[in-house]
Amino acid sequence: MPIRTLIDLGPVVERAVLVGAAHGGRGAAGRVEEHLAELARLADTAGASVVGRLVQRAAGATPRFFIGPGKVTELKALADAAGATLVIFDDAFIPNELIFMDGETEFAAMLVERFTSYHRRSYVCKSGVGDVLIGAAATVAEYNGVEHASHIRDKLVEMTHLNETIYATGIASSYQSHATKSGAYICDDMLANVCKHHVTKIPYEMGRLAQDLAGGLMVTLPSAADYCHSELGPLLEKYLKGREDVPTEHRRRILRLIENMTLGRNAVGYLTESLHGAGSPQAQRVQIYRQMQLSFKQHLAQQLAGIGVAGSVATDLEEVIDGYFARVFATDEPN
Ligand SMILES: Cc1cc2nc3c(=O)[nH]c(=O)nc-3n(C[C@H](O)[C@H](O)[C@H](O)COP(=O)(O)OP(=O)(O)OC[C@H]3O[C@@H](n4cnc5c(N)ncnc54)[C@H](O)[C@@H]3O)c2cc1C
Repeated sequence: MPIRTLIDLGPVVERAVLVGAAHGGRGAAGRVEEHLAELARLADTAGASVVGRLVQRAAGATPRFFIGPGKVTELKALADAAGATLVIFDDAFIPNELIFMDGETEFAAMLVERFTSYHRRSYVCKSGVGDVLIGAAATVAEYNGVEHASHIRDKLVEMTHLNETIYATGIASSYQSHATKSGAYICDDMLANVCKHHVTKIPYEMGRLAQDLAGGLMVTLPSAADYCHSELGPLLEKYLKGREDVPTEHRRRILRLIENMTLGRNAVGYLTESLHGAGSPQAQRVQIYRQMQLSFKQHLAQQLAGIGVAGSVATDLEEVIDGYFARVFATDEPN
């Protein structure tokens, strides 16, 4: 029997029971009828089939039940009898303590900052991908027989320097993390943004250097089918060989890897996601701007230049230091 006949390929249709509660005074019942009629149309639009409805008339929700314990039993029987797979409440009782942000908009910016801080610091992972690209670039240089040239070595040093810059800022952000009042640790926001901002640029430069070392063959390589061709295959094997002791196929494979990481499927993650993931570059610059402590830095410069005017420049470091620098100088209290 064909497998198709054993599997129902039709769209799954939810069988919904609608529930409304007429809480409050006169007029509540009419409103519930109106709401349930609208809910039925919404359920239909969403692809559910309405198989039952239940209305509760009561003064209000109890601490434990939105529709009262008796109605809950009635609802269960109705749902069982109608073969319902879904119960939709017109309204729902959600205790305030279970609402994530119950109108507390003063915490919105802080929540976004904390989320993006963790997220942007996590882009340190791109240095792992960078290690693979450095390895591929060094390998292709060897296969091309040029690994001892000083400018080749220097380009590998440059790639490593760039890659470690991402790593360093990510690790530093964690190292500078601090405990919040809840005891949960939050990484350093400035360094997290600096880490992510490096990630919007460095992989592109590393990709450029890897392509430089690979040579143009990386994008002009014939297809795998050509290598299997009885006539073309041996010719390609002969003319695309680099170093004598390296099989042509190995050279092809490492070139394909660099192509894949800098132009192909993995460039999605290594380049474009590095650029836009966790916010496009400007998002980090805004955050860096907000935290860059200009007044503290001005204070240092003005003190050294001896241009402090009484009243305009604070003389006590602790008066102007906060945020990142306060943690560096250990003058900050946990918040
Ligand atoms: C491969 C990949 C994977 C991703 N993975 C995830 C994921 O797992 N989870 C997730 O939540 N997101 C993910 N993202 C989404 C990522 O967070 C967004 O791409 C990013 O926030 C940028 O948004 P956008 O792509 O809509 O670009 P846009 O916001 O359209 O930005 C395009 C350009 O317009 C500029 N711009 C935007 N708004 C303004 C404005 N108001 N004024 C002036 N200039 C502006 C930007 O600075 C940028 O230069 C991923 C993205 C990519 C590319």
